[in-house]
Order: sequence, then structure tokens, then C-alpha cells
Amino acid sequence: MILVLIDHDLGELDPLSLRVITAARKLTSDVQAVAIGEVGANLAGVVGEYGAPILHVAKHAALTDYTPAASGRALAQLVETLEPEAVLAAGSPRGNEQLAHLATILDLPMAAECSVISLSKTAGAPHSVTRARWAANLLEEAFVHSDLLIATVLAFSVEAEAVPGAGPAKVEMFEVNLEPSDLLVRVLSRGGESSKGGVTLTDAKVIVSGGRGVGGPDGFAQLEELAGLLGGAVGCSRVVTSAGWRPHAEQVGQTGTKVAPDLYIAAGISGAMQHIAGCKNSKTIVVINTDPEAPIMAYADYAKIGDLHKVIPALTSAIREMKG
Ligand SMILES: Cc1cc2nc3c(=O)[nH]c(=O)nc-3n(C[C@H](O)[C@H](O)[C@H](O)COP(=O)(O)OP(=O)(O)OC[C@H]3O[C@@H](n4cnc5c(N)ncnc54)[C@H](O)[C@@H]3O)c2cc1C
Repeated sequence: MILVLIDHDLGELDPLSLRVITAARKLTSDVQAVAIGEVGANLAGVVGEYGAPILHVAKHAALTDYTPAASGRALAQLVETLEPEAVLAAGSPRGNEQLAHLATILDLPMAAECSVISLSKTAGAPHSVTRARWAANLLEEAFVHSDLLIATVLAFSVEAEAVPGAGPAKVEMFEVNLEPSDLLVRVLSRGGESSKGGVTLTDAKVIVSGGRGVGGPDGFAQLEELAGLLGGAVGCSRVVTSAGWRPHAEQVGQTGTKVAPDLYIAAGISGAMQHIAGCKNSKTIVVINTDPEAPIMAYADYAKIGDLHKVIPALTSAIREMKG
């Protein structure tokens, strides 16, 4: 059996988790899911439809928000009871962190961001994986010497596929015993843009992303307006988050969120490989940049050479006109 960690933010499903269920189903027909902390019936419904008939839910009074070490502890306790052959999660910052805690607690190796997983067929033989390294510019083939495979699945390497006719997952609660040290890192409060809700980067169909070329925090009002019109989300480069113009939750890239929208508009972003690592799975990339030689041009499906402060308002008013 493969156990899949279903990540959620206060009950809001991370859609990457559904891709992990599909990845697990390609390896075995026996897939179960686990969520840490309070989740609603909707989540059990979706998890079941994508092919995990049982959703284990970790219960403890302290599991009210993201608590990575406690997640690791809860997973370790469930692994002891269920004895799965693998525990998989999304290759997101949160998925990687929670499984790293699990691996540390069990004193086992963990393989992060795997695009290919092949489970060992013989007892004692290693599992094999292909991992994306160096901003996915290097694919590493590796063996994992451990009976239990603990691995995260590279974001967007598998499409989520619902199972026709599958019903909601059966929820099975389990009590977790936590040590005080499991609760040292926890969310105390939420603030800033990322607490506003709305379309998140991971599931946005359209992302309007800004870089240093936006010029400052106020410049993002134009990007927000365009994203709002297109029903999308605002993203940004690391220069922008480092300068404190936008919250880290909006950063796209190697050390931010990996995204795969239908449309990625990159305005005032040069296209450093660490940024491209986060957006190269986008179906269409539109670049707005004053520099025709900017490296991001190599990834552009369409490009407008020009000042984003003129191009974006023009685009916004053209779309408004089209929409009537
Ligand atoms: C370990 C590591 C991890 C990293 N992780 C990430 C990551 O996750 N995400 C990330 O983004 N970066 C990451 N970086 C940083 C990355 O290397 C780049 O420094 C960063 O992406 C550059 O941001 P930028 O494109 O906004 O800025 P710049 O490289 O300065 O580019 C600004 C662009 O704006 C254009 N421009 C200027 N004015 C205008 C205008 N008025 N209109 C239109 N265009 C204009 C310029 O021509 C230029 O192309 C990482 C770096 C390291 C070392």
C-alpha cells in the first residue's frame, strides 16, 4: 500500500496532492491518503474521486494549523500501524518539509522532487528514483536503500486523473501523541497579502508575475488589476520578495512556488534559471520586457518589448473593452 499525504491549508486542498494520488496509483492499486488536522467532507470527497478510498485524519488539539514536525510525528505513528511500502507527498516546500520530518523521526532516507519512481520488486533491493536537481536542470538517477520509500513527487510531473465512478473517501480518524518539541515550529498568526485568500498560485489558470522592472510595491497595483480581470493571481520574482514588495507566498521559482498555469505573464522579469525553474511548465508564457536580449525571451511564446507601465494598462483597457 502507498500512503499519500494530502496537504491542505486550513482545510483548503493543495491540488498538487491529487497529482500525487495519481502518481501513486500508477505504482499500485492500493492507495490510501492521510491528512493532518481538521478537514471538511469536501476534501474526503475529492480525495476519493481521485482514487484513495480511505482518508486517515490525524487528530490532536494542537493540530489547528501547519505544524511540520507534528505532521512528521503523526505520519510516523500511522506508518507504524499501516506499514505502507511508500509514503508520498507533493514536491512543494510544505510537502518536502513534512516528509523530511517523517524521515528524520524514522531515521530513514528521503528522496525529494522525484519525476520517476520505481518501487523495488524484491525484498532488500533498493527503490529507484529520478530526482530533479539544480532547479530541474539536472536529472539524477538514484537508488533508495530502505524498505519504506519516503519521497515527494516533482510538482506538475504527473497530471491528476479522477477515477470514473469513484465515491468519496471513507474518513478514519487516528489520535496522535505529540512531544512538546513537535510543536516548536508552528503558525502563531497570519498577516499580509497571503492571508487574503482568493486564487492561489498553485491552482491559478492565469498568473501575472512581476519582477524588479515593476519598480516598487505600488507598481503591483497594475498587475493586480490585470490579474483580477483575468481571474488569475499575482506572482513575482525573488528580487521582489527580498525587497519586501510582495509576500514570499507569491514568489515563483526554485525557492518559491512551482506553477503551471495556462497563461504566465512575466513583466519586468529577466528570466534567471531559478525563476524559470518555477514557471517553465506554464502552457503559454507572455513576456513584457524593455530588453529584447533578456534571457526570458528564450522561453516566451509571445513577447512585447516595451515598458510594462505602458503595456499593462494598455492590455487591461483592451481586455475591459473586449469584455464590454
Ligand atoms: C539559490 C538561489 C535561489 C533563487 N530562487 C529564486 C526563485 O525562487 N525565484 C526567483 O525569481 N529568483 C530566484 N533567485 C534569484 C534569481 O537568480 C534572480 O536574481 C531573480 O530571479 C531576478 O529577479 P528579476 O528578474 O525580477 O530581476 P532582474 O534580473 O534585475 O531583471 C529585471 C528585468 O526587468 C526588466 N525591466 C526593467 N524595467 C522594466 C520596465 N519598465 N518594463 C519592462 N521590463 C523592465 C529588465 O530589462 C530586466 O530584464 C534565486 C537565486 C539563488 C542564488
